[in-house]
Amino acid sequence: MGQYKTYGLHNFRSIPQMDRFSPEELFDMEVVGNVLPFKTNNYVIEELIDWDNTPADPIFVLTFPQRDMLLPHHYDEMAMAMRTGNRETIRKTADSIRWQLNPHPANQMDNIPHLGDRDLSGLQHKYRETVLFFPSQGQTCHAYCTFCFRWPQFVGLDGMKFATKEADSLVRYVSTHPEVSDILFTGGDPLIMSTKHLEAYLDVLIAAKVPNLRRIRIGTKALGYWPNRFLTDKDSDDLLRLFERVNNAGIHLAIMAHFNHSVELSTKSVREAISRVRSTGAEIRTQSPILAHINDDPMVWAKMWDEQVNLGCIPYYMFVVRDTGAQHYFAVPLVRAWEIFKEAYEMVSGISRTVRGPSMSAHAGKVQILGVSEIYGKKVITMRMLQGRNPQWILRPFYADYDDRAIWLDDLRPAFGEDRFFFEEELKEMSSTLSSVED
Ligand SMILES: *Cc1c(COP(=O)(O)O)cnc(C)c1O
Ligand code: SF4
Repeated sequence: MGQYKTYGLHNFRSIPQMDRFSPEELFDMEVVGNVLPFKTNNYVIEELIDWDNTPADPIFVLTFPQRDMLLPHHYDEMAMAMRTGNRETIRKTADSIRWQLNPHPANQMDNIPHLGDRDLSGLQHKYRETVLFFPSQGQTCHAYCTFCFRWPQFVGLDGMKFATKEADSLVRYVSTHPEVSDILFTGGDPLIMSTKHLEAYLDVLIAAKVPNLRRIRIGTKALGYWPNRFLTDKDSDDLLRLFERVNNAGIHLAIMAHFNHSVELSTKSVREAISRVRSTGAEIRTQSPILAHINDDPMVWAKMWDEQVNLGCIPYYMFVVRDTGAQHYFAVPLVRAWEIFKEAYEMVSGISRTVRGPSMSAHAGKVQILGVSEIYGKKVITMRMLQGRNPQWILRPFYADYDDRAIWLDDLRPAFGEDRFFFEEELKEMSSTLSSVED
């Protein structure tokens, strides 16, 4: 597959496979690509997309902008802006449409903790035992998923200075918060960083010997989008040695791998990459949102989980797609998501049933749809939290009126005439006592 080569708005027309599309179709991609994330690479193009299956091919939809991802009036607005040929007009139109697409879902900006009086904007501490850490050089990805709306934060800073400074703050935060057992490196994709940069974080954490730090997790799409990260990149071997050092220090290293479709598990490269990662002692756990046009089919999930287990990965989460970006295009109603989860779960053996879902990462916590039930003649949706702002909320079942069109927690009404869910009052208090951060 050769050297890593990326394509986006400025050069996608030079991809050889583009000659199968009409000028109108290429223009559509450009219109949508001006608003939604668009970046792909030679591995995705050559090994994952089945070009004879476009435009329905799931990986094509996952990485190339599709006309219907924009609402018709947004599409028209951008198409018009592009016809003016004025860059500034295009940029302003893009910004204005993006702001209408809820770029900061689930009050993400609420969870930024403080160290003394200093803002640690690379850190997010929402659940007691786990801190999310966003290294500043990890804020981009090897390719962009069209459903993703993290990309407004994709800024791509570089420099060792940043890494060292951030790593020190991270160590201080974790050492002074004994309740924190896990650090989750996230992004973007932290494995976009060179091994040298990653070492600046991980070796410092190892050396600090913080007794409460039990696990380091790295959330990544590199196995799906660029398995060469673990095989032939010039610092691949160093990366694997680094993984070994983490494990040898007695810290469990978990690679939280994002796979959206079983196709991503089918290449020789990804299989070798998984095997190399596992040889370092790291475990790979897998997760994905459920997405219309890509994986809203129980067979796809059953195959994915089954395949993952045989490759030595542990199925972990099925997420509900967030209330942001092109949600109208990707959304699967909650009831349907649960049906798909259930059907897929039925198809696999117990060994794959480590997976939990479908789960919404809402303001209050991770809310799992447990299913549709009938209680004294009333049809309800039963839910529970897998994670909560207050740990005591976890695993307490609660109920909403049945609604087969609801796509997010906000769409649901508490059942049995209650006016709010059990946690809402307390959540509101929590939010109002948090120091205000500009949203
Ligand atoms: C999912 C998530 C975590 C990790 O939760 P686990 O259930 O431990 O995997 C941590 N922080 C945030 C904000 C999350 O959404
Ligand atoms: S890999 Fe993750 S962060 Fe990167 S574009 Fe895809 S969903 Fe977004």
